[in-house]
Formats: sequence, C-alpha cells, structure tokens
Amino acid sequence: MNDDDGLALALDVGGTTIKAELVDRAGTVVASEQRPTPQGHRARDAVAEVGRTLLAQRPDAPVVGAGVVVPGLVDREAGIATYSANLGWRDLELVRSLGAEWRLPVRIANDVASGGVAEHRLGAGVGTEDLVFVPIGTGIAASIVSGGHLVTGHRGETAEIGHLAVRTGVRCACGRDGCLEAIASAAAIARRYTGLSGSHVTGAHDVAARLSTDAVARQVWHDAVEALADGLGIVSLLVGPALVVIGGGLSRAGEGLLDPLRVALRQRTPVVHPADVTASALGDRGGVIGAALLARDGWAPES
Ligand SMILES: [Zn+2]
Repeated sequence: MNDDDGLALALDVGGTTIKAELVDRAGTVVASEQRPTPQGHRARDAVAEVGRTLLAQRPDAPVVGAGVVVPGLVDREAGIATYSANLGWRDLELVRSLGAEWRLPVRIANDVASGGVAEHRLGAGVGTEDLVFVPIGTGIAASIVSGGHLVTGHRGETAEIGHLAVRTGVRCACGRDGCLEAIASAAAIARRYTGLSGSHVTGAHDVAARLSTDAVARQVWHDAVEALADGLGIVSLLVGPALVVIGGGLSRAGEGLLDPLRVALRQRTPVVHPADVTASALGDRGGVIGAALLARDGWAPES
C-alpha cells in the first residue's frame, strides 16, 4: 500500500462521537463527518455508514486504505476490537466486514496508541524517539513509544497507568484502592473538589480557575499533581522517556499543570535523566490523525 498520492479514510471511534475524515498525503482534510457513537455492537454499523458517506463524497482520487481506532483492547492481527468497557462490546469484528463493505484494506488499533503515534510523528514529540503520551480526561491512560516503536502488551494493551496504585483510601471505578485516576483524572479532580468544598463544579477547568483564590482548589490540584508525578515517575524509571506529552481535557490547564508536574517528576527520578513534560500539540484530533497514518503504513517505524 505505497500509493502515497491517494487519500486515507481515518476514523476515531470515541466514547461519545465517531470522527471520520478523508485525508490527503500532506495531512489536509478533504472531507469530514461526525456521528454519535452507539453503544455495543451497533457501533460497527455506525462506523460502516459514516465511512460509506465519506467515500461517496470523495473527489476523483483513489483511497489507499482505512484506519479505524477504537477504545479498549484491540487484536490488530485478527482485526477484532476485543473489549471496551465504556462502549459495551466484546469481540467486535471490524476489519473483514468493513473491508468488504468499503472495498478497501482496513487496519484497526487502539485510540490511545493512535494519539501517541500521532504526537510522535506529527505533534509534540517530533524529534524524539522515546516518549510517553498521557491523555487525562474521565480516566488516565498512556501509550509508550520507545526507540521509535510503539510498545504494546501481549493482548495489544497500552500502558494502563491510571490503575497504578499510588495512594490508599480512595476507591477506583475498577474496584481497587488508590489508583492514580481516582485522584488525578479530570473527573476525579472535579469530584474531589466538590466533595471537600461542598461547591459544585462542572469540571477540572473550574478547579483550575480557582487556584489563585481557593485553598481547597489548591489542595486538590496539588494532590493530583503529586499523584501524577508518582505514576509518571514509575514510568520514567521503567522506560526512561525523554518526553511526557499530556493530552486530554486536563492538558488545557497549560503551565498551571505542566510546570508543577515537571518539578515534581524531577524529584521522583534522581537516578535517570528527567523527562520534559509538555502538552499535546494535536489535541483531540490526535486519534484521527493517527488513524490516517495507520491506514497508510500500519505504523511501521520510519527508517
Ligand atoms: Zn483502578
């Protein structure tokens, strides 16, 4: 599939929205569509439909392939989305049926991995071969690029750092105690602030906006930064990244998050060269940009 002059069909199946784009070789979006993501196996039909709609709009140019990125576990070889707790599917077959319907080669992968590959090749991680991409929103996940290669587990897992146990006495949605994401996800920051202050907030951005005037906001934010540094410190000691790229909703806090996190992470890693910490360059488009790269070359490391 080296027909680089053609278009790529790229789809990012998110928790609430399917983003779909036709992208040319230079990365320019030729056409785009969005749909709500249905729960369960109906998601496949919605993906198929939005792909069909885009392919019908294409200009007079060949489409070289499709990349579809989804949450949860993915068996890339078998072409099956194995499990998503949030979207409620198990063993959702995608590659064979979508390929037959669209008449294209189709590749699938995990969405966090997609964001990491996109940041590495086209975003905040350009110029380094060793980075960790950490989207922080309702949960916390990570994808690790080491020596230019995406690191995945034996069943296709990305790094589930949100469930590193870094505290005690805080129940996580996974059923265990003290997980990083129960303290430091954007959702947890908002929830903990409301619990401690009695004041309702709509999200972590409201807590960030109160940092200069509200001691409870400062405490909750400090707790989150310290917990993140503990989790990222473990990752740094294990794989030694040059760069940590923070994505997801919490990355919009900018230096109010990044600066204290940089300092706290350095304190955790005196025996290794400390990683710099920066914000995602691609924002919530990282997933679909990674899907376009997946369609073109299967994320084969650049030689
Ligand atoms: Zn957990």
